[in-house]
This record gives sequence, structure tokens and C-alpha cells, in this order.
Amino acid sequence: MSAKPAPTREDWEKLESEITIRNKAFINGQYVDAVSGKTFDCVSPVDGRVLTKVAECDAEDVNRAVTAARAAFNAGIWSREAPARRKSVLQKFAGLIMKNKNELALLECLDMGKPVKWAGAVDVPGSAGAITWYAEAIDKIYDEIAPTDRRRSLALITREPIGVVACVVPWNFPLLMAAWKFAPALAAGNSVILKPAEQSPLTALRIAELASEAGIPDGVFNVVPGFGETAGQALGRHMDVDALAFTGSTEVGKMFMRYSGESNLKAVGLECGGKSPSLVMADADLDLAAKKIAMGVFFNQGEVCTAASRLVVQDSIKDELVEKIAGVAATLQPMDPLSPKAIVGAMVDKNQTGRVMGYINKGQEEGAKLYYGGKQVLQETGGFYIEPTIFDNVSNDMTIAREEIFGPVISTITFKDMEEGVKIANDTIYGLAASVWTRDISKAHQLAQSLRAGTVWVNTYDDVDMSTPFGGYKQSGHGRDRSLHALEKYTQLKTTWINIA
Ligand code: NAD
Repeated sequence: MSAKPAPTREDWEKLESEITIRNKAFINGQYVDAVSGKTFDCVSPVDGRVLTKVAECDAEDVNRAVTAARAAFNAGIWSREAPARRKSVLQKFAGLIMKNKNELALLECLDMGKPVKWAGAVDVPGSAGAITWYAEAIDKIYDEIAPTDRRRSLALITREPIGVVACVVPWNFPLLMAAWKFAPALAAGNSVILKPAEQSPLTALRIAELASEAGIPDGVFNVVPGFGETAGQALGRHMDVDALAFTGSTEVGKMFMRYSGESNLKAVGLECGGKSPSLVMADADLDLAAKKIAMGVFFNQGEVCTAASRLVVQDSIKDELVEKIAGVAATLQPMDPLSPKAIVGAMVDKNQTGRVMGYINKGQEEGAKLYYGGKQVLQETGGFYIEPTIFDNVSNDMTIAREEIFGPVISTITFKDMEEGVKIANDTIYGLAASVWTRDISKAHQLAQSLRAGTVWVNTYDDVDMSTPFGGYKQSGHGRDRSLHALEKYTQLKTTWINIA
């Protein structure tokens, strides 16, 4: 039996002509315009065309969503349902996402530029998988009774949903980052208000009706598209939002801490930026390291919070490794994201393209050597594409080594011995992820323990599983997505004393 051929660009164009792009806010179980009537253009970075005009929500729309979410929460139509019942609704929701996989993959691709093939292989099934994971977990979690003096009293420790949860998410994995948050939040019984990034609202808007179709009650899952300074800030400052789960830049993460402090002290969970080092020792398998590190930094156009953006390599093998990484980079040239051959697609928009090109110029101005790539390409398409780019001779105090570029750019920094390597790797404000490359098992353990990062990969990169917690040290944030640990962000503990004397 021969495998089904991959869909072509023509197949995707046909699908686009058959679907209706959802562009309104979803509040209390209905698609609605913004109260102001305002909309913003949703531009595709694939070719620069306007896909649709999306409702531009602001504080008033956020207010409506919070009111609906609170009413649903207080009514107990979801929050007090048996976990097994929430499980079956969420499983249905995940099933509907998979049933509409091609449409959602296409929307993700057109909206933010990633290859449709990857959206269909990673983003959509990963999102459905996150929902299923928490659905399956939630009716297997027990509460506790404390070991107090049982002759006199019982102290019950119960975990309750926190209430109204706002999720504010970025554009690099629009559906997946959202699902890592709303899945545990919904499973735990909360009402959710999701604010997608203004660059990528389409999949969030589409799944809202799938949530409803699956049986999630009105008001429990709301989506408010809009800009950060208006809709995002309104959620951050709202007096009736109990918890806010944020993924995005460190700069905006700090704002959410301020918003909370200046409003109702809502719990804030932050998944922020990174500047992840790949610490490569001279005894490493260089072919493996080159392959994985290149994918680690160029995959998703480098728009990945864990991007392997700093290559911290022992000086004796630097030239050989950089040459090998360039060899892999040559196979990762940006391409039409609708092509079945594309591994790397378009940057999210014009702004981000300008930002990344600015860093590439800055690297050269500060004296780093542009070893490979560095150009904006495919401009004739009207879209936004940047070549995989490798800098050599970088010192860790240069701007390109310190700031998160969020594009396909890697900076090579050398060290002499292990101690210096660890020092350079840890010399960053971020601590999201790191990788270690060595054939020596003792060295691998020592290095992994020395690196201050929430995830350390040894001789591998970007391994991910719902069962593992994900989040940052230092200014990469606090709190964890994925795994049962994520439930900490969406629940609180209640102690109930019962006098039995
Ligand atoms: P961003 O911080 O600009 O925006 C993220 C979200 O915050 C968007 O929804 C945006 O509308 C909103 N926002 C922006 N300004 C705001 C304001 N003043 N007040 C309230 N809300 C505001 O980030 P981005 O450019 O969308 O995404 C890139 C960043 O996300 C990178 O720094 C990347 O590392 C980070 N990221 C982190 C993770 C992680 O898990 N740690 C995952 C993906 C992306």
C-alpha cells in the first residue's frame, strides 16, 4: 500500500476557499463584535495579504467576558461538575480539534507563517493532546486529610478551582501555548478568558465554537482578540480575574506583575523569554550536535522561546562544529509555508522581520563575524522570510549574545575549559532551557546540574512531553506549564477543620 501523498499548495488553497474564517470575539457562548465596533487587519506573513478583519476588543469587551466567566463559575455548571464529566467533555473537545486538524493547521500557517505541514504535525495534535492529557488526569487526583490529632478533629485539604483565569499568549505557537494553559485550567473547573496575540488570533477564535459544540457551557471558555496594551492590560488589571497565565516576552511579563500589584493581587504565572546555551564539549558527537542544534535554533523560523540561540563551544572543535551546523542550515532555507517541502516558513510579520534584521546588523557592527546567511529573502512574494544565520567570533557581552532575538540566528562563543563554559552558559538573565553535548556521562551530569535552567537536554534538543513540567529559572519566569505541576497555577488549597470530638 503506498502512503497518501502530502497535500499540495493547490489542495490548501481549495480548503481555504471552503472555510469561513472566524473573526469575532467569543463571549458567553456567542460570536460578537467588539463593543466599539472596531476591527484590525489580520495580515498573512506568507504573502502579505489581509486574511480578514478581526474584532478589536478592549476593556469593555474584557469586562463582558469576565462577567460571563464569573457568572458561569458561580453557577457551578462547570466548576462544580464531577471531574469525570469534565473529562468526557474535554475529550470530545480534543476530538473535534483533531477532526478539524487540516483547517486549524491551515489557519495557523496563514496567520503566523509556520509551514502547514508542521502545524498539522506538531501544533494541532499537540494542542488536542494537551487537552486529552488533563482530561484524563483530572478524575484521578485525590485530595488529602492532614495527620492531625484525629481524636479531636479532621483537617481536610481540598484543591479547588481558582475561579476566573485569563490566558494571555504569544504568536509563535498560538494554539499550543494557549492549550498548555486553558487545558489544565478548564480541567480543574475554572472559567477561562483567552487573549490570543494580535498577530495570530484565528485558531483561538475557531476552537471557541468547537469547545461549545463539545459541551463546554456558555461563559466557561471565552476568547477576546485584541492588542496587548488594551485587551491584555485590561485582563491584567481586572479586579475580578483570579489568576493570569502569561506566555510572552520578559518585558511584558514584568508588566503583568505590576498590573497584579496595582489591582487585586491576582496570581500571575509567567512563561517568558530565553537565550538558551548549547554547551558543547570537545568529546561530543559533532554530527548529532550539529543536526539537533541547527533544528533547535532554526525550527519555527527561530521563533521559539527555547531556541538554541547561543552555541557555547569548546575552542578546539569550534571550527568543525560551525561548519557542520552551516551544512544543516543549508537544508533549512525558508520556503513557501504551504509547500509540502517546507521545513522553515515565514517570520510572523513585518515588525518581527525588521527586529531580527536589526539584530543581524547590530551583530556585525559590534564585531561578530557573519559566517552564514543573514539576508531577508523571497521579498517578491510579499511575505517575510529570513535565511538561517550563523555568527562566529561572538563574545558573550555582545547584544546578539545577550538579548532574545526570536529569529533564526545563532551566536558562537568559545570557552577553554568546563568551568569557563558553565560560567558563560549561565551568564544571562534568562534560564528557560539549555543543552549539554558530551560522550562522558559524569561530565553530562555535572554540567546538567550546574546549568540554571528549567529544562536541560543532554545530547538531544527540544524533546517535549506533556508529562514533564516546562518553565523558567531567573527572568524566564515562574510557575510551570505541562504535567500535573501546572495545576498549581489554576487551583488553590483549602483546609477545612471538622470537630469530631
Ligand atoms: P509579547 O510579550 O509581545 O506578547 C505576548 C502577549 O502579551 C500577546 O498576547 C500580547 O498582545 C500581550 N501584550 C503585549 N503587550 C502587552 C501589554 N503592554 N499589556 C498586556 N499584554 C500585552 O510576546 P510575543 O512577541 O507575542 O512572543 C514572543 C515572546 O514570547 C518571546 O519573548 C518568547 O520567548 C516568549 N515565549 C515564551 C514561551 C515560554 O513558554 N517561556 C513560549 C513561547 C514564547
